[in-house]
Amino acid sequence: MCGILGISGRRDISAQLLDGLAAIQHRGQDAAGIVTFNRTFHLRKGLGLVAEVFRDGNLDGLAGSVGLAHVRYATTGSGDVLDAQPIVVDYPFGLAMVHNGNVINFAHLRRHLYEDHHRLVDTSNDVALILYTFASKLETKDLKHLSIDDVFDCVTATQDEVEGAYSAVTIIANHGLLAFCDPHGIRPLVMGRQVTDVGVSWAFASETTCFDHLDFEMVRDLQPGEAVFIDRDQRVHSRICRRRQQAYCVFEYIYFAREDAVMNGRLVASERVRLGKRLGATFRATGLQPDIVIDVPTSAYFFASALAEELGVPYRRGLAKNRHVGRSFITPGAQRREAMVHKKLNPIRDIIRGRKVAVVDDSIVRGTTARLLVELLRKAGATEVYVVSAAPPIKHPCIYGIDMSARGEIIAAHNDIEDVKRYLGADAVVYQRLEDLKDLYRDLPCCYACFSGEYPTGATAEALAEIEAEKVSSRR
Ligand code: SF4
Repeated sequence: MCGILGISGRRDISAQLLDGLAAIQHRGQDAAGIVTFNRTFHLRKGLGLVAEVFRDGNLDGLAGSVGLAHVRYATTGSGDVLDAQPIVVDYPFGLAMVHNGNVINFAHLRRHLYEDHHRLVDTSNDVALILYTFASKLETKDLKHLSIDDVFDCVTATQDEVEGAYSAVTIIANHGLLAFCDPHGIRPLVMGRQVTDVGVSWAFASETTCFDHLDFEMVRDLQPGEAVFIDRDQRVHSRICRRRQQAYCVFEYIYFAREDAVMNGRLVASERVRLGKRLGATFRATGLQPDIVIDVPTSAYFFASALAEELGVPYRRGLAKNRHVGRSFITPGAQRREAMVHKKLNPIRDIIRGRKVAVVDDSIVRGTTARLLVELLRKAGATEVYVVSAAPPIKHPCIYGIDMSARGEIIAAHNDIEDVKRYLGADAVVYQRLEDLKDLYRDLPCCYACFSGEYPTGATAEALAEIEAEKVSSRR
């Protein structure tokens, strides 16, 4: 999962790109980058947080009124700076691209690009595969007279070849800014607008949080398979290029998006309250009665406070968080993650001591965070610890860009709820029921593949094994 932003403005936009990137930092902390275009591309990217990569605050080299920005969370590809985005190519047009998601037929695309187009994709980052595939489609057009229809036809042809989840924003040099989504619309992409004294600016981003910080108004979410093109005169063109059944990633509401983001007209904070309330009946059915409900800060706050309200017991902030340590879930490597949890969270003893504690997290993936938390809470004097997950049991790898691709790492893939409880050392484990989650989103077709194993793009056992192998080799 990554965060992307593209702006087609009227003046130099590098400062806006930088501010917008900071607003989606939570979507990726491995690398950050910005590219702008005036007569040529100007690119700066590096490993680390936005504030580290752009430490000097000097944006002088990034001139241009159109640009892209990216924060990276490594899924496929190494943590190498080569895999940081944006990426730029100069043939057949100057093209730059950022993307969020995961390509699943990478082996086929690599082979095809090499054998049929003599392009050696020398990075394992899948954005290169999308960009080169798109470039190979552009090559078939009359480049001097590229029309809007040509651009959209190239998107359709790209969507026909590239399988997986992707939301991408591209600069086509001297032509405009193009945004497009995969046919299922798995990854989010929103469009915003700003009216200035010199005309209208347009933006595309992973989350509306960028727009709030940049003072853009939200226009709409892009539809599955849609492409939107902003030409040099800032005119907007759109087409649904290749659409299939929508399968929006439900995990955006559970974990990834920031609470103040609005996705498909739904405020993420409100969605988390609904999810927390829905947990109430499931928790009551256990017959357990906690003295307090606490959250794993900060993404579980809304689940926990809503659950407490439903159960009629106090919500308490029972864990102190060191705000200067990154998010553990999006930190690659299990050992680094465990060390991070230790550094990040500490029980507040007077709140925990002598109490039966329900501790709510957004999900349980590997179980390492929950296990450590149970240990910490017991040490702090909890008499009983109930671990509550706002998500149903994750049983299958996400092949669309969330770092849980290796099935062996997913605790509920091989263990029933009793085994999970034993592993965590908890007195009870309560998950959201998948039926309840689906009921809450009955009017928004979502992807539930990590819970159900039903992949919207389809995925054979061989394909899953190939994706897992790629994942493991790219971690080395
Ligand atoms: S498998 Fe899960 S995390 Fe991945 S896109 Fe689907 S719902 Fe989201």
